[in-house]
Amino acid sequence: MRVGQVGAISMSDWPLSEELVQIRDTTRRFMRNEVKKAEEQVEHDAIHLPHDLLDPLQKKARELGIWCIRSPEEYGGAGLDLLGQAVVAEETARCKMGAYIPACGAIGFDPPNVVFYGGTKDQIERFGIPGVQKGDKVFTAITEASGGSDPARAIRTRAVRKGDRYILNGAKMWISGVQHAQWGIVFARTGEAGDRGGITCFIVEKGMKGFSQREIPVIRSYSPFELVFEDCEIPVENRLGEEGEGFKLVSKWSVEGRIPYAAGTIGVAQEALEQAIEWVKQRETFRSKLADKQAIQWMVADSEMELQAARMLIYKAAMTATTGGDLKYFSSMCKVTATETAFRVIDRCVQMFGALGVAEEMPIERWFRELRVKRLGEGPSEVQRVVVARQLLGSGRKGGGEEG
Ligand SMILES: Cc1cc2nc3c(=O)[nH]c(=O)nc-3n(C[C@H](O)[C@H](O)[C@H](O)COP(=O)(O)OP(=O)(O)OC[C@H]3O[C@@H](n4cnc5c(N)ncnc54)[C@H](O)[C@@H]3O)c2cc1C
Repeated sequence: MRVGQVGAISMSDWPLSEELVQIRDTTRRFMRNEVKKAEEQVEHDAIHLPHDLLDPLQKKARELGIWCIRSPEEYGGAGLDLLGQAVVAEETARCKMGAYIPACGAIGFDPPNVVFYGGTKDQIERFGIPGVQKGDKVFTAITEASGGSDPARAIRTRAVRKGDRYILNGAKMWISGVQHAQWGIVFARTGEAGDRGGITCFIVEKGMKGFSQREIPVIRSYSPFELVFEDCEIPVENRLGEEGEGFKLVSKWSVEGRIPYAAGTIGVAQEALEQAIEWVKQRETFRSKLADKQAIQWMVADSEMELQAARMLIYKAAMTATTGGDLKYFSSMCKVTATETAFRVIDRCVQMFGALGVAEEMPIERWFRELRVKRLGEGPSEVQRVVVARQLLGSGRKGGGEEG
């Protein structure tokens, strides 16, 4: 046995079980040998693979047990715990479209798991189970033009009950995944203005009368959308959870979601760093390799140290779900740390590649743009810091806020 190994598991695998190491290595091989090869055949900013490339990959992912990793096993998902989700999320982000389309869509997209935990039997049968079977993207619409950091106060879209329907009026901004989704969950006000308890969650289907969408081009390849609801009629059976309990229903789901989200960002940065290391070992300036220059060595060393630290914080947050502790505090901390670390690492990688780092023939250029958005989505950095500060300093401080 080599130094640094315990049984079959290397110390560097701590704290992963043998089973998780196996899942990680299998996913890594699948990405390297199959997903990335398929992806080479599509253009730089592609956000999906054509069916002839995607279908065999999806079949393989189901066989490997990494299909819809967050969805419960009883409904056809892989049912991985948070640590398992983090491990797979890091590996499946390691392709060109991986920052937003893990494994190019090969592992499917989980329907919002609140459908399973907060939905009725009918909602599970109509939306949850087919969602896992198809693995299609589903949108989640919270943010409005009035603001996304503090949605409890900003949401103006209103749902008014009329008999067996709700009439929805208003607009959502910056909503992801709409181009591929057939349905999504929409948060609307049914109670008092500015009241966190006055928000209700609805399942809205794209074909519903009074629903329209408009693409909003942004820095990343995968455009978000504006959604407009004009007297859009939603049957009462599509209300998710009780009236006024929208945020309560999704709070566990959104806190947990930050952990695989964070893991995906360091997966992208790790891939970029490995590509940069290969590059500096062969690129020569001033009669020696870039890898021989101390300035470059420090960029590589700093990036590796920061990624290792971010990964440990992600694992710590994930383990809090099973070992006990303040999951919200750790998931906010790991979300800020990972997204900000990943952006710093990508920035250094661009520098090491020189002009090639900003060329469209390199994935780095795309990752640089997409990782910038990661510091805004899923609760921006400042709002996550508010969660951490409140825990340390006590709530009710001036300048605080409440994440949505
Ligand atoms: C590409 C993209 C995709 C998105 N996808 C979705 C989606 O699918 N669904 C969805 O609902 N939303 C989505 N969003 C919206 C995203 O969640 C919001 O942009 C985010 O919550 C911030 O809201 P805002 O843009 O309105 O900024 P604001 O709320 O106006 O905040 C502006 C800035 O002020 C900072 N700030 C806020 N409060 C404080 C404070 N107390 N102290 C210090 N600084 C503070 C914020 O961090 C932010 O940097 C997406 C956004 C983008 C760009």
